[in-house]
Amino acid sequence: MLSDRENLIAAARAMAARGLSIGTSGNVSLRGAEGILITPSAVPYEALTPEMIPLLRPDGSFEGRFRPSSEWRFHLDIYLSRPSAGGIVHHHAPYCTALSVARREIPACHYMITRFGGGSVRCADYALFGTEALSKAILNALEGRTACLMANHGGLALGRDVFAALGAATELEALAQQYMLSLQAGGPVLLSDQEIEDATNQFATAYRPNTGG
Ligand code: 13P
Ligand code: ZN
Repeated sequence: MLSDRENLIAAARAMAARGLSIGTSGNVSLRGAEGILITPSAVPYEALTPEMIPLLRPDGSFEGRFRPSSEWRFHLDIYLSRPSAGGIVHHHAPYCTALSVARREIPACHYMITRFGGGSVRCADYALFGTEALSKAILNALEGRTACLMANHGGLALGRDVFAALGAATELEALAQQYMLSLQAGGPVLLSDQEIEDATNQFATAYRPNTGG
């Protein structure tokens, strides 16, 4: 079985391999047995080894030789406010970022949006990267949601573990792409509140985990 540090590196590399992150943009964290592990700032994901991964303490200090991601604060604040979050993926994927540059949220254009907790994925207000102001804007945009866009920046998603977060961040980019393509096709017909509620209930019943037998 892979260690938490190895899982973190695998998720960060998969983010890049899926085209969700170019260069050293984006960052990935998980809450594991040691505590909060986060990708180091400005280090290419291919270069990472387990001992290079900083351990983030709840007071914002860290253990390790490499300084943590410049976005450590919003990762920490999300973990503090969401006990169920075990992983967070932040990326500058093309479609999420294009929408974030236009400062547009993703509306109820597809039933899969309910995967993120409701009938929209909000776009957090603009704030400088790496700041407490950005963290506050993100927490506001995440109210009742498990993903958001970040104005003039990118997107993020959380999950019960780092691979669930990676899956959610990948689906978020797919949804952003589908929404943007629908704008070119004449504009989406949005689902009603009732249709969003029905889709949410359908996921909880008809689309529950399929474990065989
Ligand atoms: P880090 O390399 O410091 O994680 O920064 C990348 C990024 O996406 C900042 O928002
Ligand atoms: Zn970023």
